[in-house]
Amino acid sequence: MITLCIHGGAGNITPAMMTPEQEAAYHQGLSEALAAGYAVLESGGSAMDSVTRAIVSLENNPLFNAGRGSVFTKKGLHEMDAALMDGSNLAAGAVAGVRNIKNPILLAREVMLHSGHVFLSGSGAGEFALNQKLEFVADDYYFNKERYDQWIAIRDSDFYQLDHKDDNLKGAAPNPDYKFGTVGAVACDASGNLAAGTSTGGMTNKRFGRIGDSPVVGSGTYANNATCAISCTGHGEFFLRAVVAYDVSCLIEYKGFTLQQACDEVIKNKLVAMGGEGGLIAVNAAGDHQFCFNSAGMYRAVRSSSGLSEVAWYG
Ligand code: ASP
Repeated sequence: MITLCIHGGAGNITPAMMTPEQEAAYHQGLSEALAAGYAVLESGGSAMDSVTRAIVSLENNPLFNAGRGSVFTKKGLHEMDAALMDGSNLAAGAVAGVRNIKNPILLAREVMLHSGHVFLSGSGAGEFALNQKLEFVADDYYFNKERYDQWIAIRDSDFYQLDHKDDNLKGAAPNPDYKFGTVGAVACDASGNLAAGTSTGGMTNKRFGRIGDSPVVGSGTYANNATCAISCTGHGEFFLRAVVAYDVSCLIEYKGFTLQQACDEVIKNKLVAMGGEGGLIAVNAAGDHQFCFNSAGMYRAVRSSSGLSEVAWYG
């Protein structure tokens, strides 16, 4: 069974917070990304290519906190993180704190395929992007009035905000309208190969070169044909400490959990006990999928050759 799942972030996503226009825009953005990625699988393409295509579409959509829609840092810049992993051979590529790259997921892919390394950061990653002839964009490409206003509201404070906020977060700005707008995709192709990818602008007003879980292999992103492919979204500091994506994989590998049992154990038990909020998307080599989150909602979509097709965001 071929399957593609995508997410556009978890958080306090409730009917009271969404206008019909916003609902239509999210529906369209998720549907377009799903269609782009699924077309790859349908034509016999790889999970890796499918995940990449879906994430590029989400990165190009200013609705999501990745690529074009990336949030502002304390200095008013955009520093992005991304990772991609191939479940067939455990190859991985990741970048952190990159600037002016149009599609960080394409840079993560280049790192995986052509750098001889796994994880590049900051200016070195930018230098590698130049070498690989990736597309660069000017700072104003990322300008978005809503995210700018979110940043202006807290830039003179020590608060940071997860693409809007969280009362439970240490140092987070008080604002009930929060969500984690990171994007991700996981896929199972016709050969039973899995892939996972995640891309994010991180947190509004982040500083000191803060890096979240998204680009960290095993925390925000992981893929292994023998277990599952996972992409996470949520309060990255907790996802890093809980090593979420690899923990799900380990519960399947070492304890024989089903995909659902493993996701529920990590997201609904372990993370909740730590105070960590967010969710994940997961798929296994049978093409089964899971959407699992402990927040009010998560932007998500799935399509599979079983005929399943769904776009949703509320809990
Ligand atoms: N996990 C991301 C981070 O902490 C945020 C998100 O999921 O939106 O950078």
